[in-house]
Amino acid sequence: MCLLQPRMNKEMEELSPLGDSGHGDMSEEESEEDDGPKICQVCGDKSTGYHFNAMTCEGCKGFFRRAMKRPTKFCCPFQNSCVINKSNRRQCQSCRLQKCLSIGMRKELIMSDEAVEKRRMHIKRKRLQEEPVMLTPQQEKVIQELLAAHKKTFDMTCAHFIQFRPLDPDKNDISDHNQEHCSRKYAQKNINKPEPNIRVQRESSYVSTSSPSSNSQELENREIKRLGRIIFTSLPHFADLTTYMIKNVINFGKMLTMFRALVIEDQISLLKGATLEIMLIHFNMFFNEETNIWECGPIKYCLEDAMRAGFQRHLLDPMMNFHCTLRKLRLHEEEYVLMQAISLFSPDRPGVTHHKVIDHNQEVLAMTLKTYIESKRSEPEKYLLYPKIIGCLTEMRSMNEEYTKQVLKIQDIQPEVSPLLLEIISKDS
Ligand SMILES: [Zn+2]
Ligand SMILES: [Zn+2]
Repeated sequence: MCLLQPRMNKEMEELSPLGDSGHGDMSEEESEEDDGPKICQVCGDKSTGYHFNAMTCEGCKGFFRRAMKRPTKFCCPFQNSCVINKSNRRQCQSCRLQKCLSIGMRKELIMSDEAVEKRRMHIKRKRLQEEPVMLTPQQEKVIQELLAAHKKTFDMTCAHFIQFRPLDPDKNDISDHNQEHCSRKYAQKNINKPEPNIRVQRESSYVSTSSPSSNSQELENREIKRLGRIIFTSLPHFADLTTYMIKNVINFGKMLTMFRALVIEDQISLLKGATLEIMLIHFNMFFNEETNIWECGPIKYCLEDAMRAGFQRHLLDPMMNFHCTLRKLRLHEEEYVLMQAISLFSPDRPGVTHHKVIDHNQEVLAMTLKTYIESKRSEPEKYLLYPKIIGCLTEMRSMNEEYTKQVLKIQDIQPEVSPLLLEIISKDS
């Protein structure tokens, strides 16, 4: 707003060669264009620029317009020689008007109310057409670097995914696995059908209530372990997938000038803080919110696959909601990569030392995202898009803690979690 205002005033002057800036609300900023103090030539008050051909204050501008539209003449109660100043200017309208005319204020420059309104609308339209919000060259550069880093570090075809240990060890053929998804989709929607994960909870809670309380925890753990061996069938695949994704995230960071400029300790702290979030953003690009399936090239994942890796509903449910919400925003690739970078440059991650630099970086990225949306999108999709994206970033942060907790639990039951992931979620750098 403050950036636009001076330009807007300039335009008004150009539009009207007569020089009447017309409206108090707009002409007020005129004085800020030049640094030197301006003085009303009528009364000596602070001037807001040229009005009707003379440098005047808002008060004298309004007075002149009203006086000129008045059918009757003023009359001086004194000797027609009052000296007009800021404090007495209301006392003699006749001499004030004389002063106005003597300094060159011109009646013919006053526009009719209708003309004023017309011009106002014209300016508004013109401004919308001719002054679109634009990305600065610097912002363009930021986006290009992010896109390049993303493209180089993340293969959107997901061709590597089939090299991981199998998602479904019982099925050697991927298409077999994917074939089943349709039926699973039904199962997911039908809450009454118990899923493997729910069975774990039921049976273990049965164990804990029916046994002496001193042993119940131990028994429960043993029971989860026993069931875990049977159930966590997709864990090896997820471990490989996670290792692969984390490596991508690290490489993505390393390709960014802003990131490389940080001290290595901060690079590590930022990566540890943002890895899960960036992985979630990656996966969102593959999410089909109609079917709730992540369509990653040759492999398709559904919620049950994550359950078979040991993840539980109080992480997976909010995660599913998050994916639906974010996917529905139909983000451009530019917006996705900016989101990743905003998450990466979070100054408040544990262990960060150069808080200010990172805070500045994040601000640059956030402004770039905001300007991108403003300049590249149109209503109604533009409406509130920026705050919605920020909302998603906040939402992801709240999932981080639960994710870490569940990963550690899984590792405890079946120590097959990605070693790189364990390193990422470990508290000490
Ligand atoms: Zn004045
Ligand atoms: Zn007078």
